[in-house]
Amino acid sequence: MDQTRPDPIPNPAVRRLSLYLRQLEAFKRKDRRTISSKQLGESLNLTDAQVRKDLAYFGQFGHPGIGYRVDDLISRVRHILGTDKIWNVMIIGAGNLGRALMAYNGFDAKGFRLVAAFDIDPQKIGQRHGPENRSLLIQPLSELKATVEKLGIRLAILTVPADTAQDIADEVVEAGVRGILNFAPVSLNVPQDVATTSVDLAVQLEQLSFQVNLPPVGAKNHF
Ligand code: NAD
Repeated sequence: MDQTRPDPIPNPAVRRLSLYLRQLEAFKRKDRRTISSKQLGESLNLTDAQVRKDLAYFGQFGHPGIGYRVDDLISRVRHILGTDKIWNVMIIGAGNLGRALMAYNGFDAKGFRLVAAFDIDPQKIGQRHGPENRSLLIQPLSELKATVEKLGIRLAILTVPADTAQDIADEVVEAGVRGILNFAPVSLNVPQDVATTSVDLAVQLEQLSFQVNLPPVGAKNHF
């Protein structure tokens, strides 16, 4: 398989791929075998042209007169997103948020396995968290590098305070991590070959409050 990096693809198109995948999986659960770009688009409030344009970044998928084969498109989108394999993931910061993520059972089904957790607090180190059948031991940071190597960890979730997030990011990158999901409210500087995504619920809430604050359709601009 060709492993050369494709030309840069706009981030929104990549984000929509995850939405397409979720929607396709829902169609599959309803035993749908094929789907058109119009149907896929309508299920997400997108146009069929948008769906076709997004998918065209990654290759040729549809079949004239049939549309997309749901199974086929699911496996190809999973392959593009890299979720057709299992990723070992670690969490740094076993506080409220870190422990809530450890307790969540839904990552495995999406190809992400939480395999390690770290904290700096001696009170937390040595404790176990998460569901009984796969609870994680909270380890000290001194074991981070060896654990990353031993378990082949390439993705890290940072749930540490903002003032320590950059130092931790440097440390996990140095250990071999290539993707960071950052919950701390700070933007991280990482080398070019490391990917970061930030999650900030406050930003999402701001987007919601903006939408809810908009005047009714047809009313005059009130800003
Ligand atoms: P918390 O204080 O409960 O947990 C932070 C944990 O990090 C603690 O266990 C602490 O011991 C550990 N820690 C501190 N320094 C560390 C270091 N250098 N190395 C390893 N572990 C270290 O905080 P929380 O409520 O779980 O929040 C965690 C982070 O997530 C904060 O930055 C917070 O602002 C952020 N947050 C983001 C969102 C969001 O929407 N993105 C929502 C809530 C919290």
